[in-house]
Amino acid sequence: RRIITTEESEEDIRIEGTLRPQHLSEYIGQERAKSTLKIYIEAAKSRGEALDHVLFYGPPGLGKTTLAGIIANEMGTHMKVTSGPAIEKPGEMAAILNNLQEGDVLFVDEIHRLNRQVEEVLYPAMEDYAIDIMIGKGASARSIRLDLPKFTLVGATTRAGLLTAPLRDRFGVVHHLEYYTVQELTTIILRSAEVLHVEIDRNGAVELARRSRGTPRLANRLLKRVRDFAQVKYDGKITEKVAVFALDLLEVDRHGLDQSDRLILRTIIEKFAGGPVGLDTLAASLGEDAGTLEDVYEPYLLQNGFLNRTSRGRMATELAYEHLGIAFPK
Ligand code: ADP
Repeated sequence: RRIITTEESEEDIRIEGTLRPQHLSEYIGQERAKSTLKIYIEAAKSRGEALDHVLFYGPPGLGKTTLAGIIANEMGTHMKVTSGPAIEKPGEMAAILNNLQEGDVLFVDEIHRLNRQVEEVLYPAMEDYAIDIMIGKGASARSIRLDLPKFTLVGATTRAGLLTAPLRDRFGVVHHLEYYTVQELTTIILRSAEVLHVEIDRNGAVELARRSRGTPRLANRLLKRVRDFAQVKYDGKITEKVAVFALDLLEVDRHGLDQSDRLILRTIIEKFAGGPVGLDTLAASLGEDAGTLEDVYEPYLLQNGFLNRTSRGRMATELAYEHLGIAFPK
C-alpha cells in the first residue's frame, strides 16, 4: 500500500482515535487558527451561544477533523460526523440537522462534494437555524419552516475555492491549515510514541518528522511502520539509524517524497521536457485524478520548490532535476 494516500485506512481510523488531541492546549502548531479559535470559543461560551460556523481547508491529514472534535470538546458539546458524499438526499441532511442538540458541532468532511439540493438545505439551517420542508404534492404542496437547535457547522475541504459562493459566505470563520514544521512534527511524533509505548530517541523522531511531508497523519503512519522495523531488525528502539534504514526501504526520501511524487516529477521531466504541461494532460499521463494531483500532491511539491505553476502549466524546477539526479538543461 502506498504510504502517501488520501484515504484513511482502517488502521488509521482505529489508531487515530487514541492519538487525537482532545484539547486546544494539546494541539500542536497551527498557531493562528488556534489563537483565533480560542477567542471565539471563549466569547461564545460566555454568551451561552453556539460558536459561529467554521470552515477548515487544506490538504488531507493536517488536523481538520481533530480540530472539529476539539471545538466540540472545549464547548462542552457533542460532535456528529458526516461527509459530503455520504449524504445523497435533502431529507437525510434535514434528519441529521433535526437530531442535533443545542450547541452541537456537525462536522461535514469533504463538504464541497455535497450535491446542490442537499447544500440548499444548509443555507437556512446555517443562517436562521431552520429548515424548510415541503408537505404534500402538486397544487396543495406547501412549505413549512422547522426550527433547529443552535448548532455549529464545521466544514472541511481541500481547497476553499471548491465551495460554491453561497455556501462559503455562510461560514463566519475560515481557516487555512498549513503544513507543519519539522519541529512541530517532532513534538507530535514524540507524543504519539508515548501514547503507543514506542521507544524512540529525539534524532529518530527528527528523521521521521523530516520525511513526513509536513503532515501529522503521515508522521503517525511512518512511526507505526518504522516501529515494526525496529522490533524485527533492531532491539525495538527507533534511533536515527533505524529510521533512515526503514524509511529508505519504504522509499520515502530525505525530502518526504515517495514514489508517486518522484513519478510526477520524472514524468514532467522525461515526457514533457520539464514542462510546462497542463494539469489535465499530466494527470492523464499519470493515470491519476486531476483533483487529487492538484489538492494532495502538488501543494507539497510547490511549497518545497520542486514544482512551479505557470500560466502555461506545471514545470519541474532545477531542484527537481537535481533531486532525481537528472542534468538540468541549460
Ligand atoms: P484531516 O481531518 O485534516 O484529514 P485529522 O484531523 O484526521 O486530519 O488528523 C490526522 C491525524 O493526525 C490525527 O489522528 C491526529 O492524531 C494527528 N494530528 C493532526 N493534527 C495534529 C496536531 N496539531 N497535533 C497532534 N496531532 C495531530
